[in-house]
Amino acid sequence: MTSLIDRFLNYVTFDTQSDPSQGCCPSSKGQMTFAAFLRDELLSLGLHDVVLDDNGYVMATLRSNVDYKVPAIGFVAHMDTAPDASGSNVKPQLVENYQGGDIALGKGEEVLSPIQYPDLHELHGYDIITTDGTTLLGADNKAGIAEIISAVEYLIVNADIPHGDIKIAFTPDEEIGRGADLFNVEKFGAQWAYTIDGGPVGELEYENFNAAAATVTFHGNNVHPGTAKGKMVNSMTFASRFQAEMPSEETPEMTEGYEGFYHLTTAEMSVPKSTLHYILRDFEQEGLERRKAYLKDKVATFNQGSKQKLVTLTVTDNYSNMKEMVEPHPHIIDIAKQAMIACAVKPNIKPIRGGTDGARLSFMGLPCPNIFTGGYNFHGIHEFITVQGMELAVNVIVQIAKDTAIRYR
Ligand SMILES: [Zn+2]
Repeated sequence: MTSLIDRFLNYVTFDTQSDPSQGCCPSSKGQMTFAAFLRDELLSLGLHDVVLDDNGYVMATLRSNVDYKVPAIGFVAHMDTAPDASGSNVKPQLVENYQGGDIALGKGEEVLSPIQYPDLHELHGYDIITTDGTTLLGADNKAGIAEIISAVEYLIVNADIPHGDIKIAFTPDEEIGRGADLFNVEKFGAQWAYTIDGGPVGELEYENFNAAAATVTFHGNNVHPGTAKGKMVNSMTFASRFQAEMPSEETPEMTEGYEGFYHLTTAEMSVPKSTLHYILRDFEQEGLERRKAYLKDKVATFNQGSKQKLVTLTVTDNYSNMKEMVEPHPHIIDIAKQAMIACAVKPNIKPIRGGTDGARLSFMGLPCPNIFTGGYNFHGIHEFITVQGMELAVNVIVQIAKDTAIRYR
C-alpha cells in the first residue's frame, strides 16, 4: 500500500494553482496533469467507472460489497490550490514529534510560531507537515484527495468491511468559485456526499453564508481644476462618503460566528468615475435581502435631488446557505457525527464563514456537508497539517462507508 503520507507528499509537488483570469475549465494546465495522474492511480487501484472528462473532473466508483441495497454515498475534494500564494515548487518539511516553540520554515527566514498560531499549543507530540516558507502547502485540498484515496484503498484491502457503492470525485477550480459549475451530479450517482475540505480535526460543517456581490458606481464630471467651480463633480468625494457611512461594525474584521457583513473588497477611483465593489454575507436569506435593501436605499438617498443619476447599483447573487438543503436529511449529518465519535474524534459542528463547492452541489441535488482534513492556515505560506489528523480523516471516511452500510442492512 502506498502510505497516506507518501501519497500526500507526492500530490503537493504538482502545481495546480487555479487562475481566475482564464475562462476555460480547468483554468490551468497543471490541474489536468494532476487529474490524469489521479485517474491512473484510481485505475491501478481497480476502481470502476474511472473517468477524467474534458473539463478535468475525475470520477470513480468503489462498488458495493454487500448483497442488499445501500444508498450510494460520495466523497469529494478539489485538485486546485488558491491563487493567493504560489503553489509551484512546493517543498514540504516533516517535523516529527513537535515539542512546542517556533518551527523554522526552509532556511528559517520564515517561522511557524505558536505566538501567531496558538493552535500549535494543542499539537505537542504530533507530526507536522509544513511548507518551506516560500509557497502554500496545498493540504487544501490535496490532503482531502490523499485521505479519500487512502480510505478507498483501505476498504479494498479490508474487504470484510461492509460498504455500499462509494462514489468519489475530484474537481477543478474550487478556489476560484467554479468547482461545481460543470459537475455532473446525475453521472456522479450518489444520494449524498461529503467534501473532505475542512480544517482541524472534528470539523463538520453544513451551514454557510448566503452570498451576493454589489457594485456601486459613482458618476462625476471632470473639468480643468482651474475653471472647475460649479462644474466639476468629483465622484471620489461621493464614493468615499458612501463608504464612510456604511455600518462600521458589520465588516469581516468586526464579526464572527453567525454574524454577517458588508465587505469593501476593491475600489477604482478617478474624478469622472469611481466604483466600489462589495461582497455581502449573511447566514439568513432574509438578512442578505436586508443588506441588499440597505445598499439600494443608500444609493437612492445619494441620488435624491440630482437630475441625472449620480450613483448606480448592480447586485448579483453568488451562493446560498446549504443548510436548507441538508437539514431535511438529518441522517447525512448524523452518520458523519457518529462516525467521528466511533473514531474517537469530537465532532465540532460550526458554520462556514464562506462557501464551499458542497454548498453549490447541495442546491444541484447532491446534499454535501464538509468534513475536516486536519489542516490549518489554508491559502498561505504558514499552511500546515498533522499526520495524525490526516489518519483520523481516513478513519472517519472508512467509518462513514461502514456505518452507512450497517444502517441500511
Ligand atoms: Zn479547499
